[in-house]
Amino acid sequence: MALLVQKFGGTSVGTVERIKAVAEKVKASRDAGNQMVVVVSAMSGETNRLVDLAHAVQSPPSAREFDVLLSTGEQVTIALLSMALESIGCSARSYTGSQVHIRTDSAYNKARILEIDDLRVRADLQAGRVVVVAGFQGVDESGAITTLGRGGSDTTAVAMAAALKADECQIFTDVDGVYTTDPRVEPKARKLDKITFEEMLEMASLGSKVLQIRAVEFAGKYQVPLRVLSSFQEGEGTLITFEDDEMEEAKISGIAFNRDEAKLTIRGVPDQPGVAYKILGPIGEANIEVDMIVQNISRDGTTDFTFTVHRNDFDKALALLNSLSQTLNAREVDGDAAIVKVSLVGVGMRSHAGIASRMFGALAKEGINIRMISTSEIKISVVIDEKYLELGVRTLHEAFGLSKD
Ligand code: ADP
Ligand code: ASP
Ligand code: MG
Repeated sequence: MALLVQKFGGTSVGTVERIKAVAEKVKASRDAGNQMVVVVSAMSGETNRLVDLAHAVQSPPSAREFDVLLSTGEQVTIALLSMALESIGCSARSYTGSQVHIRTDSAYNKARILEIDDLRVRADLQAGRVVVVAGFQGVDESGAITTLGRGGSDTTAVAMAAALKADECQIFTDVDGVYTTDPRVEPKARKLDKITFEEMLEMASLGSKVLQIRAVEFAGKYQVPLRVLSSFQEGEGTLITFEDDEMEEAKISGIAFNRDEAKLTIRGVPDQPGVAYKILGPIGEANIEVDMIVQNISRDGTTDFTFTVHRNDFDKALALLNSLSQTLNAREVDGDAAIVKVSLVGVGMRSHAGIASRMFGALAKEGINIRMISTSEIKISVVIDEKYLELGVRTLHEAFGLSKD
């Protein structure tokens, strides 16, 4: 008998028919002798609808009340799924995040899970019930409802699996596994049977939204066996695993991209100690996260400084830079929100020279200009114009032999 945590995303519970189909699937797993904990998202489109409702009333919305509102989406699904299970003779009980004591910090809209009290869940499992838990939400020390950031139901599932020491955490979604790149952008993308935690973490943090980054972090930290599978078709999906010899063969395992970034440049700032601090200090104080940073070689005692931020923070960052430019005696400030970041990811990259030049060569051949570059041990990222996203991803996919035949 295994203890399984299964998570079903928005599309998988998007209609009453689909909720009923999920119930059948869960019941089949339980009838096969497994103890089942099911984590669900809000029905597809619901969280976006709630976001719009909030902004129609207060913009920006109160962080505390925003979470109260957003958490309602998942509450609808847990009740409906439990009803669907009961109606086919499968005993079930639904719980919100606070009811199963998913304790988080108080960072509304992006809270982190601190601990889970699994007593209640264990008692239900013992009694032969399926436990249905609302994803994406928790409760802070003061009793306020918190949410875990978009895509957060993945993290709820992995955290539940870690707390219960489940045999596997299965993420059911609308694709049948993790692909070499988003199959919506490159139809020739190939499904991976396995990917390492390290690579999956890099893919998620570079923009692949198939798993929330914190879910992957959690799974790596607590060694939770994690699998991505399709809600709609049978198959083994993709197992997220620790590095093994067989996997070292591949130099590049995938291509990730991020459409949510924007680029800012401050030109002609004096090249002196403390200048980077003077620029990025106020940006950090305004709670704006910075991703890539490039400082040019100085000429005539001045330098140019470029960095990227989340697109939602672009206007705020640009206004800050404009006011800083006066105090710093900079020549000019400019910004571009129509950019994307495309990244090659692979643990095999470590031991292979020439990947970067092949990447740059392939992009050059298509006339795609690279605006920024950054590298780490297992990834190379470039910033390019947004209009070249599809072409860039497909070109690299082909150039690195990732496409299926
Ligand atoms: P859910 O609602 O089930 O959580 P998501 O939309 O969050 O589903 O995640 C699944 C989507 O992730 C897929 O439909 C796909 O477009 C996208 N995706 C991005 N990168 C990848 C990748 N490398 N492999 C598979 N899917 C990916
Ligand atoms: N419903 C939330 C969202 O749309 C959480 C999730 O689906 O994982 O982001
Ligand atoms: Mg998701």
